[in-house]
Amino acid sequence: MDSLLQEISTGKYKKIIVMAGAGISTAAGIPDFRTPGTGLYSNLQRFNLPFPEAVFDLEYLRDNPEPFFMLASEMYPTHFEPTSFHDFIAWIAELGYLKRVYTQNIDTLERKAGIDPDLIVEAHGSFSGNHCIDCNAEAENAEVESIIINDKSIPRCKDCDGIVKPDIVFFGESLPDRFHQLMETDFDDVDLAIVAGTSLQVSPFNQLPMMVPKGIPRYLINKEKVGNLGSRKNDVLILGSLEDHNVVFSKFVKVDKKEESQSTSEIEESVSVSEGTSSVVDTAERTESESLSEKPDSEAKEKELTEDANYDGSDIESEDEDGDEDADERSGFITSLLKKLRVV
Ligand SMILES: [Zn+2]
Repeated sequence: MDSLLQEISTGKYKKIIVMAGAGISTAAGIPDFRTPGTGLYSNLQRFNLPFPEAVFDLEYLRDNPEPFFMLASEMYPTHFEPTSFHDFIAWIAELGYLKRVYTQNIDTLERKAGIDPDLIVEAHGSFSGNHCIDCNAEAENAEVESIIINDKSIPRCKDCDGIVKPDIVFFGESLPDRFHQLMETDFDDVDLAIVAGTSLQVSPFNQLPMMVPKGIPRYLINKEKVGNLGSRKNDVLILGSLEDHNVVFSKFVKVDKKEESQSTSEIEESVSVSEGTSSVVDTAERTESESLSEKPDSEAKEKELTEDANYDGSDIESEDEDGDEDADERSGFITSLLKKLRVV
């Protein structure tokens, strides 16, 4: 039974590295910039940015901090809760098997899910800290948050009156030292890699999966095939909407936490007995109704476990076509924002 979740729960892998992108936070309801007419989009238009990326440009920020801080007030992590996928990573950490999660997201939802910050690398920075852009003095998080969200104002440095910016990596800024330092050694000793919710288009993050030594299984849990995932013998592609997979993860992780007495053999039995023919849409519908009751019945759990077990990458080609369509949609102004902010 080669279900990823079961293998993890039974301790087959003890040094797991997760590499995650915006896709794992989509279910958290991070605002969709792509939809013209939404508050966020309209608000940005009103600033008449000289070029879209200006909102994340350090020099532009100096003279015109309002657009960024307006965006920051909308994007502030306080507004969002971790998704099931974050819970899944936290579950691996609780088991003691998470070596590191490398995230492109600035939303700090990994921290909010309860993962030890030592195990997290926020490759593109995050809202978890703040520094003055002139003298680099650190500013208190709660204070900055209150100024951005409540006062809708610009946080200023107490020492030099410079603008205080959340530690999000802006254009032209280098990635955090922590990213470069840890990637040097982390991948030397890993026994499972999981890549999820990313288009792997942003460098140097997109190099990480290639640093996984050959022979080590790499799982891709994603809407489409990306990077060179799928080119190695040990690669496993679990394609489809991550929000649907979230369901599988949440059920499994919850069940595992609630019924710790349930043995692995029982889980295996339930998986092999059920017929894994339900579609992804079916899963999504069931989830909606179940989330109301919050009490998943065992039958649904069996079905979902089976579904996960059945994802063996055989649907790569059909999913690939969908992926191309999605890729076409990812262009222009809004995409740039997305890439930088939620970091696609
Ligand atoms: Zn300062």
